[in-house]
Amino acid sequence: MYTVGEKIASIKGQLPEQVRLVAVSKTKPISLIQEAYDAGQRIFGENKAMEMKEKHEALPDNIHWHFIGHLQTNKVKYIAPFVKLIHSVDSLKLLKEINKQALKNDRIISCLLQFHIASEETKYGLSAKEAYDILSSEEFKTLKNIRITGVMGMASNTFDTDLVREEFKYLRTIFQNLQYDFFLNDIFFREISMGMSGDYQIAVTEGSTLVRIGSSIFGAREYRTGSTK
Ligand SMILES: *Cc1c(COP(=O)(O)O)cnc(C)c1O
Repeated sequence: MYTVGEKIASIKGQLPEQVRLVAVSKTKPISLIQEAYDAGQRIFGENKAMEMKEKHEALPDNIHWHFIGHLQTNKVKYIAPFVKLIHSVDSLKLLKEINKQALKNDRIISCLLQFHIASEETKYGLSAKEAYDILSSEEFKTLKNIRITGVMGMASNTFDTDLVREEFKYLRTIFQNLQYDFFLNDIFFREISMGMSGDYQIAVTEGSTLVRIGSSIFGAREYRTGSTK
């Protein structure tokens, strides 16, 4: 059995320098997160606001907490004081609430726009058109306490690696188009959050800058099923 520290070291050893590891610690106990922290890991991903708040309070201050799950507007207030990056923004309504709570906390909160890139119906996320509508809106321009730093997506849960690769390529194309159309010369717009335990190697070759890895570090891997396409 490898320790959490050894698994993190092994994954980090495979990542190019510009790719950062988000250790997805959702559902995992404080003790296991502490173990990863002691091994040098600083970025952790959670998908429930209250759970992330509790873990933030129990663990060292210099952890970078990334929110990676579907975020309800009424939960934003729990994480606004400390969250480092919200990967999962999928509406203008949510962006407005994040802006409001960021303002209350005298912060600027970094956010990624989450895109629906999988062929599966179940995943959350924007279409390219919806993102263009948000970013072109007058309302968006008034939001001074949020900063869009890139894009996020989840590929299909499938063994079909060609399909997964196409979906990641598509996300990268969206990133490049948005960069050209809305964020030219914006040095903060630089993140492509893609890749999980089962597909991060593909994501890295397609330009990921943030991989979100849970089960390969902390165990309890979910089984990947066949494509639903
Ligand atoms: C759970 C989760 C992950 C990590 O998945 P693993 O397959 O356990 O690596 C990554 N991203 C999101 C959005 C998640 O919810």
